[in-house]
Amino acid sequence: AASEWERLTKQLPSWLEESRRESHKGRPATYIPELAHAPADALGITIMSTEGQSLTLGDCGLSFTMQSISKVFTLILALMDHGEEGVFRKVGMEPTGDDFNSMLKLELVEPGIPFNPLINAGAIAISSLIRGGSPAAKAERILAFFRELADAPSLKWNEAVYRSESATAHRNRSLAYFLKDNRVLEEQDDVEEVLDVYFKHCSVEITCRQLARMALVLALNGKDPQSGRELIPRRYVQIAKTFMVSCGMYNASGEFAIRAGLPAKSGVAGGILALVPGRYGIGVVGPALNDKGNSVAGVHLLETLSGEFDWSLF
Ligand code: GLU
Repeated sequence: AASEWERLTKQLPSWLEESRRESHKGRPATYIPELAHAPADALGITIMSTEGQSLTLGDCGLSFTMQSISKVFTLILALMDHGEEGVFRKVGMEPTGDDFNSMLKLELVEPGIPFNPLINAGAIAISSLIRGGSPAAKAERILAFFRELADAPSLKWNEAVYRSESATAHRNRSLAYFLKDNRVLEEQDDVEEVLDVYFKHCSVEITCRQLARMALVLALNGKDPQSGRELIPRRYVQIAKTFMVSCGMYNASGEFAIRAGLPAKSGVAGGILALVPGRYGIGVVGPALNDKGNSVAGVHLLETLSGEFDWSLF
């Protein structure tokens, strides 16, 4: 693997610039007003190996909000809080083929639980499962978990993005009230409080490097890269990775599985968390999104890397 790392170090700069040139094919998300200000042709990446090497390149100084990437880790926390049985009473295990914020299958398909935990409806249901005495305590618990995985004690949510999303989230509110009507959100679940936890974890501000560190923990099957201590039970990493492959890249998950073949999760702020199990944790940011909602340059770069090094799991 020494030679692979050498080649990676040598060639990454040109692959990065090549991918950056793809940015003009997309544009930053605007439906959350605060996200529209992101620099459209930025591209940054960090790759961390399970052997302790690390490479950071491009616009890595850029911090961005995790958005849907956070859903992977709230799912894991909910699994740690309630086990598989508790979680899969509330969400299914199947991709939808619909948009991430679609309401369609909550109404049309029995039993009215969200298809999976990575679409908005599923992630809102997951937010209701996070243990804590109050909504504030739940959000703080999520933050503490993210901080540990990212090795970033000062990680916090971006107040402006959180407010911007909360103020404009009519669709997510509709989804949440629908879940309440379907009794996925239960008697004790206050809809606005559940949503507040959801908006906060989506707004957690992060860098490529910190995202790569979170991915590295997954690449190590849940072990802390420094101490080797178990941060996440292996089984829950396995579940998270499986959802990332089947649903992590919105309605381009199948295409990404064919072209890159790696567990990955993207978010509307342009971040992508990806991993090569047992080998690398990767964090990428490129705010210009394609029509499927994934970072254009980020996807291009990950597909290039996977192709060059034959990283596909399949
Ligand atoms: N907070 C965003 C929303 O609920 C997350 C969407 C995403 O990254 O896919 O709309």
